[in-house]
Amino acid sequence: MNAFPCRLFPVKSPIGNERLYSIKSLHAIFSACSFSKRKHSAIAFHAGNINGPSVMSPSAGATMSRPYVSRSLSPPDHKLVAFYANHHVVPLPPDHRFPMEKYALTVSNLQNDASLSDKFDLRPGPLAEFRDLLLVHDGEYIQRFCDNRMTEQEMRNVGFPWSQELVDRTFSSAGGTIQATRLLFEEGRMMTANIAGGTHHAFRSKLMFSLSPCTFISGERVAIQDYGVQRILVVDLDVHQGNGTAGIFEEEGRVTTFDMFGDKNYPWKTRMRNTHDVPLPDGTEDEEYLSVLKHWLPRLVEENKPQLLIYQAGVDPLKGDRFGRLHLSRSGLLQRNHLLYSTALESSIPTVITMGGGYAEPMLASVECHTDVYRSAAYRLHAWQSSRVKN
Ligand SMILES: [Zn+2]
Repeated sequence: MNAFPCRLFPVKSPIGNERLYSIKSLHAIFSACSFSKRKHSAIAFHAGNINGPSVMSPSAGATMSRPYVSRSLSPPDHKLVAFYANHHVVPLPPDHRFPMEKYALTVSNLQNDASLSDKFDLRPGPLAEFRDLLLVHDGEYIQRFCDNRMTEQEMRNVGFPWSQELVDRTFSSAGGTIQATRLLFEEGRMMTANIAGGTHHAFRSKLMFSLSPCTFISGERVAIQDYGVQRILVVDLDVHQGNGTAGIFEEEGRVTTFDMFGDKNYPWKTRMRNTHDVPLPDGTEDEEYLSVLKHWLPRLVEENKPQLLIYQAGVDPLKGDRFGRLHLSRSGLLQRNHLLYSTALESSIPTVITMGGGYAEPMLASVECHTDVYRSAAYRLHAWQSSRVKN
């Protein structure tokens, strides 16, 4: 039985000094590992040997990145390619309160909507490659998760019991965001999506109630390293501050993080500093929320001229969410999405949409809002592409 999705691949330093293992050597090893694309065989490097900050810090991506080449491709179709991770079913205790079914229900809603048949391309999220996760996370930390060697406290923060399916699903969730990012640059698509991901409480080597030890920002690092992207805008509209995202990109001038969240919502003691933090008071309703967003979005685009936009589309600002304290309606969330999509499409900014939180009771209220995120994106993208062909 294959116990782990990661092959352990010990790396020996040629100069016998683990800390001085060079980026150049690592790059050569990464390039040689073509078999890493095989399903269930993400390469895991022996963490102790390559885990030095000189190699694994976010600045490593800067050293290895390629020059940015403008996208000039025409997309192969007008569909919204959207990845999902719910083909990996995580076993949970019967009394577990996390609404895991919401992912499959959102996918099912989109699959069963006949009006979307020519607008959607749903694909299973591939497992993230270990080397891509190393751009963001500590290798030893990820390896311990793969091997079921995390501490009890760490697993409490994950919130799910360890299982092989949990590891696979985590890798698929991160892999969906990474692949969605790659398609923007390799196929000239303007918008792609992940019906998973958006996990934003994972730090480089620790996590805070993250539900996933891998952050969704792996896509940004891949964009910088493999496609030479120099200006990235993260718009995080989940009701909780994305402290993991903020922490990882704190020193990264190429990534601007904008975060609108409930000021009284988690995280409290572990909040980090985004480029722009916009905390909102309890009970904020549609009108106030949308006016703040309308003020910020054009300004963010004008000032940063992003070459990539990552949208964390959490729907937990919905009134009645168990873990949120804002009072947006479903219609307000829909208008929020439209504002974001209009801004991105009108400025021709390639965009990846990730899912984020949503914990309403009944759960179907969140599922409807999650479905809206992707349905409206597919409609907007289709209309935008069609208008370009006509003109
Ligand atoms: Zn949230």
